[in-house]
Amino acid sequence: MPQPGTMASAGRRPLTTMVFLEVLSDDTVAFYRRMARHIRIREDAPICRQKEIYGWYDFPKSELSISTERIISRPQPHHAIEETFWHELVHAAQDCKHNNGEGQPLGIAKSAMPLGPVQMESLRNSLRSSGRSGQPMEHEALWMETKPGKVRWVVEKYCL
Ligand SMILES: [Zn+2]
Repeated sequence: MPQPGTMASAGRRPLTTMVFLEVLSDDTVAFYRRMARHIRIREDAPICRQKEIYGWYDFPKSELSISTERIISRPQPHHAIEETFWHELVHAAQDCKHNNGEGQPLGIAKSAMPLGPVQMESLRNSLRSSGRSGQPMEHEALWMETKPGKVRWVVEKYCL
């Protein structure tokens, strides 16, 4: 039950609230809030319209973007938003670890990060749509995007 006095504001929210936060789990939102104090996190930034991407991490600016508009038009948007968030945070950790404006792999052995056929296809698509050549960094992000515990660990180690 709402507390007395809260009914009037129900349904209203500040313009700065990002839509993707509404579909993330509470744990993930809590982590987002910690992270947002260290890097800029945007939603549907201009880059999201320029490239066929779900998310983007801008290394020189240390800025993370989520393409919510694109993701919510696809199947299983909740799932895709969670994975995109963790994926881009892997890139943030790659940025924090090296702090050189372009990022470098965390250094996990490729043999320890087996990708299935679907993820291999994602790797090819993602390198093509991003126009980037950072294959080892993208491999790490794709492998870790389904492992939030590991992403938290690297982000806490290098960024927080
Ligand atoms: Zn990526």
